Amino acid sequence: MPSNPTISATRLLHFDAAHRVMEHESKCKNLHGHRYVVEATFDASKLDKLGRVIDFGVITTLLGGWIDAHWDHNTILFDADKALGHVIEEQTGQSVFYLPYNPTAENIAHYLMTQVCPDIFKDYEAVCRNIIVHETPNCYATISR
Ligand SMILES: [Zn+2]
Repeated sequence: MPSNPTISATRLLHFDAAHRVMEHESKCKNLHGHRYVVEATFDASKLDKLGRVIDFGVITTLLGGWIDAHWDHNTILFDADKALGHVIEEQTGQSVFYLPYNPTAENIAHYLMTQVCPDIFKDYEAVCRNIIVHETPNCYATISR
């Protein structure tokens, strides 16, 4: 048995959003929606005094809260797609969320790992090690550090 096994904790989060993939070769170029599932996995070098990597409720509050505020029931677009975004904003009043790249499952996972988690979990010892973004029950992308 290894002397320092890695222990991780994973929380599943769900959100609904619309997106499209600019220049996609097929139907994904159309504006459409998904029931996204995010699996966020955290590691810690040691457990806290209660025996946790991080409280699951903290993941829900911080990461789930960020997703709820910015992505849930919103439209996620590439910032090169602002012509469409402006039409949506004018017609619905919603604030479209723009990514610096196409909103594929891979890029959504990348954004959570590199832009969102380091900021919202900066006061916690646990580190986000792995994020999986499910776009459909059969298709998902994984980013690990
Ligand atoms: Zn899609």
